[in-house]
Amino acid sequence: MDVRIVRSERRQRTISARLEAGVLVVRLPAGMPAEQEQEWVERMRQRVLGRRRNDELNSDGALRRRADELNRTYFGGALQIADIRYVPNQDARWGSCTTNQGTIRLSDRLADVPAWVRDYVIIHELAHLIRPDHSPAFWRLVQRYKLTERARGYLMALGLDDLGEPTGA
Ligand SMILES: [Zn+2]
Repeated sequence: MDVRIVRSERRQRTISARLEAGVLVVRLPAGMPAEQEQEWVERMRQRVLGRRRNDELNSDGALRRRADELNRTYFGGALQIADIRYVPNQDARWGSCTTNQGTIRLSDRLADVPAWVRDYVIIHELAHLIRPDHSPAFWRLVQRYKLTERARGYLMALGLDDLGEPTGA
């Protein structure tokens, strides 16, 4: 990716980046040391790439279709999924669920794990739409999916088992 740095006297602190005709234009305050400029360019490059990857991951509707299938298979199609999408992995969690809005977010790292592991995370978050906790009743719902323990082991081996607490806000 080509990069163009625009140094602006007027922008005291604001740092921004966007793609303009395939060139990453990074706006930085003038007078920043070269080393720091390079750090910012790399950071902004990763951010823009991450956003683009996310747009691609969410554009084909595959995740939504899979969630609808799993809803039918494991919950009789009873759950109301307002929205489900990948988000950049920012807080080291695999997934999250906002129960009263019916919105589910999956880390984009899950785009690269086997489908049966990803299915577990989707089912886990779907179950939170019924039980917004990690009670035994919650786990009984999740364990309708027979690969639950294997999938948890798989995620743990990757160093992350934290699916995050469901939020009602
Ligand atoms: Zn959970």
